[in-house]
Amino acid sequence: MTVEMKNKDIIKIQNLEVFAHHGVYPEERENGQNFYVNAQLYTGTREAGLRDDLNLSTNYGEVCHFMDCFLKQHTWQLIESVAEQLAEAVLLQFERVEALQLEIRKPSAPIGLPFESVSVCVERGWHTAFVAFGSNLGEKEKYIQDALKELRSHHLIRVGAVSDILCTKPYGGVKQDDFLNGVLELRTLLTPWELLEFLHELEQKAGRTRELRWGPRTLDLDIIFYDDEVIDSKELTIPHIDMDNRTFVLEPMCQLAPWYRHPVLNRTMVQLLDELKSVSRKLL
Ligand code: ADP
Ligand code: MG
Repeated sequence: MTVEMKNKDIIKIQNLEVFAHHGVYPEERENGQNFYVNAQLYTGTREAGLRDDLNLSTNYGEVCHFMDCFLKQHTWQLIESVAEQLAEAVLLQFERVEALQLEIRKPSAPIGLPFESVSVCVERGWHTAFVAFGSNLGEKEKYIQDALKELRSHHLIRVGAVSDILCTKPYGGVKQDDFLNGVLELRTLLTPWELLEFLHELEQKAGRTRELRWGPRTLDLDIIFYDDEVIDSKELTIPHIDMDNRTFVLEPMCQLAPWYRHPVLNRTMVQLLDELKSVSRKLL
């Protein structure tokens, strides 16, 4: 997985030394040892550079102190965990950091052989996703509002714009009640699979059962886009496989991001909606 990094500016922190207590062995957790952190923060520096204003940049001193405290406050067995948790904490704490590469080095690791250093490197960042929501069973409006509330309270998700909610006729040939549909934009630190898992949890909370494909549902949450990623797997297809045939997805998408270009079909949302409308006109 590559993190979306439109912004190429980097603030680099090299070999920040932190005495901390991470390790698998009890002695390591008791006695502690030196860890070294290399961090590349992807954070726009142009505005700050042009205006010579620290408020427009990320304060690397603050980042260093934050990382030092964070590594001292916690104890993990694995440097994998140190890297994972620290990356997440920095991304949550420093708003201007869009993504980062982090290396945690442990030169005194108890290996019993001569070596210079071991380290774990991770790359993490914020991703933009569009999620379609729909309901056509029971208290439809409430299922949607509850899901929005849950999405908003997830600490790794920032919900942005939410489209108007449309009332649409059912799709797929099954006789059933009308749908309420819409799309929302979010930023997240979750991977596409983690996001899907969370959406499934929300569907289940709404009492969703999967009896009939395209059948009635209390709540349906689909990932339409996740950055420009293309994923073809059994559980997950991104961009959503059928979005270009669904007016109830394209219309809200046109409201939120008409200029957004489908990374596989290479058409903007407006173009896809126009094409779908002209195909349905020909079929009538
Ligand atoms: P649909 O949304 O097409 O009406 P379901 O909600 O019943 O159908 O989803 C069936 C399965 O589709 C899910 O269990 C999920 O694993 C899979 N799936 C594949 N790609 C996506 C995606 N982009 N968003 C949501 N679910 C997806
Ligand atoms: Mg679905």
